[in-house]
Amino acid sequence: MIVEMRTGASRKEVDDVVEKAKSVGLNVQLNLGTDKTVVALLGSNTGQIPTDIFAVLPGVESVTRIMKPYKLASREFRPRSTVVDCGGVRIGGNKIIVMAGPCAVESEAQLMEAARAVKKAGASILRGGAFKPRTSPFSFQGLQQQGLELLARARQETGLPVVTEVVNPADVDLVASFADMLQIGSRNMQNYALLTAVGKMHKPVVLKRGFANTITEWLLAADYLLAEGGNHAILCERGIRTFEDSIRFSLDITAIPVLKKNSHLPVIVDPSHAAGHWSLVPAVAKAAVAAGADGLIIEVHPNPKEALVDGLQSLSVSDFSRLMKELSTVAASVGRTM
Ligand code: PEP
Ligand code: MN
Repeated sequence: MIVEMRTGASRKEVDDVVEKAKSVGLNVQLNLGTDKTVVALLGSNTGQIPTDIFAVLPGVESVTRIMKPYKLASREFRPRSTVVDCGGVRIGGNKIIVMAGPCAVESEAQLMEAARAVKKAGASILRGGAFKPRTSPFSFQGLQQQGLELLARARQETGLPVVTEVVNPADVDLVASFADMLQIGSRNMQNYALLTAVGKMHKPVVLKRGFANTITEWLLAADYLLAEGGNHAILCERGIRTFEDSIRFSLDITAIPVLKKNSHLPVIVDPSHAAGHWSLVPAVAKAAVAAGADGLIIEVHPNPKEALVDGLQSLSVSDFSRLMKELSTVAASVGRTM
């Protein structure tokens, strides 16, 4: 951390900064310039010390972090890439993992048809929302416990592990008792009570990026999960809000290499919620694999025109099957398997 003093700051003001630094266990390197004094604060935990404790002191011009504020999710903390095991499916290894299924579990017939179809096309994990975080309270909220029971039935029949969203800390035990992997949605990325409750389960978790959050905030949210003692988080880029309105969200493709550089956690991409339209999904999915994503989570519906939620962005079974074939060429070109 670097503390820049104001021009003309007094010796006492500098000494107060030094004293504060020492009181929180930091070492100090003083650089007394002719006009300005710069105080370098050194220590292994500077990323976790709030800058404000120095910024409020008289005579301080600015405080700049050098260390990243997140810790457990960082590559500095764990240099080797993490591989997360979800019911025998390894996410973060050489194989690109595709999770696919409907946005929402709607009925037994719909889910079973989707599950059989995505399995046949080569998906490794079944997705389906039982608890839906809807923007409007008047929209379909999901089948809830009945949806979870249907997901368990689909797993039993197809052998595919299932990932489903949990929106409320009070439902974490229930959802975890049915799901192989929990999903924390974009709208809940900074719901710290939910992150802590999910972290305690020590189960694989897909942590979606909040659509108005920086990568640093996202990795701090991952730290909430990891702070509960597991190492099972998977980061999912799903698009952020920008001024662009021709798509639902702008997929931040650069987030993939940035995360790979700064974090050991696996990274997957949700092209469906970013694109917002089925016709755009294949191009975005292929771009994500080319950019280094470890997997994809894609909405697929047996009959998108009849879908209760997100039909416009859901791939039909035939479009999904075609995409899976195209993805294997892209994966091979970047040294990955499908
Ligand atoms: C979803 O996966 O269905 C979903 C609601 O996604 P997000 O949280 O990214 O909007
Ligand atoms: Mn959806």
